[in-house]
Amino acid sequence: MSEFSLTLNEDQQQIQKWVHDFAESVVRPAAEEWDEKEEFPWPIVEEAAKIGLYSFDFFAQSSLGDPSGLTLPVALEELFWGDAGIGLAIFGSGLAAAGIAGTGTPEQVMEWVPQCFGTADQIQLGAFCVSEPDAGSDVSSLKTRAVYDEANDEWVLNGTKAWITNGGIADVHVVVAAVDPALKGRGQASFIVPPGTKGISQGQKYKKHGIRASHTAEVVLDDVRVPGSLLLGGKEKLDEKLARARDQQKTGAKQPAMATFEATRPAVAAMAIGIARAAYEYALDYAKERRAFGKAIIENQAISFMLADMATEIDAARLLVHRAAWLSRNGGYTNAEGSMSKLKAGRVAVWATERAIQILGGYGYTREYPVERFHRDAKIYDIFEGTEQIQQLVIARAISGLRVE
Ligand SMILES: Cc1cc2nc3c(=O)[nH]c(=O)nc-3n(C[C@H](O)[C@H](O)[C@H](O)COP(=O)(O)OP(=O)(O)OC[C@H]3O[C@@H](n4cnc5c(N)ncnc54)[C@H](O)[C@@H]3O)c2cc1C
Repeated sequence: MSEFSLTLNEDQQQIQKWVHDFAESVVRPAAEEWDEKEEFPWPIVEEAAKIGLYSFDFFAQSSLGDPSGLTLPVALEELFWGDAGIGLAIFGSGLAAAGIAGTGTPEQVMEWVPQCFGTADQIQLGAFCVSEPDAGSDVSSLKTRAVYDEANDEWVLNGTKAWITNGGIADVHVVVAAVDPALKGRGQASFIVPPGTKGISQGQKYKKHGIRASHTAEVVLDDVRVPGSLLLGGKEKLDEKLARARDQQKTGAKQPAMATFEATRPAVAAMAIGIARAAYEYALDYAKERRAFGKAIIENQAISFMLADMATEIDAARLLVHRAAWLSRNGGYTNAEGSMSKLKAGRVAVWATERAIQILGGYGYTREYPVERFHRDAKIYDIFEGTEQIQQLVIARAISGLRVE
């Protein structure tokens, strides 16, 4: 158990500075171009791979190997301060890696997590495929089916996944599918679909409101066959889980809390804080420069109080994120603290970026200035990895002990 401390250790401070320098010198200057192009920013991901920021080693060091839990949120805040679309292009594979690390056997983790990143010379991408056209928040209703072909020891996957980050362009797709749909969420399992597997293809690529440099697309699975060894966690564990779920169904036991995504929530919340901070800092500088009625606009309380509120809200959100990140490694959540951090950070990012537009006035509304992009990028943090309402639901259930609907 590590002590909770607001002081970052030396390694964390170095990582914070290293990521910030990359965000400032490489990511931020490229942000507008890739937002306009709405394409995956390969050259920037290559730069990130060259310095080791896009790598299995960095993923392992900042997430799996950090007892305090703070390194990853600290790094993500800096990267997403640079740009959220490019940030997600760099970090999207981390979601697939986290999915494998969360449910895979040690052998599967060793083999497949590095493959989500590849090497600096041969970059690979990962995609984590859960959502479907008719099952986003309601992840217990997945229609994608996984059927076991015992004779060949293979699983056969069929279905369509929606809104998948890196979907179709990834080398490694981690697919969550229903093995026994009657058991809802407890009848599901995750599978690795390796590079070059037949039957997996990209469907439509979405045109988005924000984070436009990140690739988001449908993934179509048409009789995709994967070996039995690619069922994450292994068959024995799955059979035990299914048997337990069937028993519980008979006895009417409650479905376990929606805890699957809780672990990654502080990391996603930290991304939102990076965007909020970028908007706040931009607006602060602007307010000192911009003059109206013979003085800098920041000399009006109406403006400086907005900035005071932004600074306070961003700090409050960051404290929730660091608490949740620490708890996720040190004893776990007791009151859905992961969801609290994500709920707060998403709201703060949307609100603070909107306030930044207000402070910049007409200029803030144009694409000449980055704050309108910050605002477009921020909105996704109320939606993915659990919407605002789903976070509220998780918190409401945790604090009430009831199955609030
Ligand atoms: C850019 C982008 C990237 C994404 N990346 C990935 C990815 O990599 N992998 C992946 O698997 N998914 C990904 N997603 C999907 C994302 O997680 C879902 O969009 C999200 O979970 C919401 O699901 P939905 O869109 O079906 O909305 P719905 O579930 O249909 O929700 C619609 C509205 O109803 C509300 N609502 C739903 N149920 C309840 C309830 N019980 N109580 C109160 N309100 C409720 C929601 O809060 C929301 O306001 C991504 C989405 C986007 C837009």
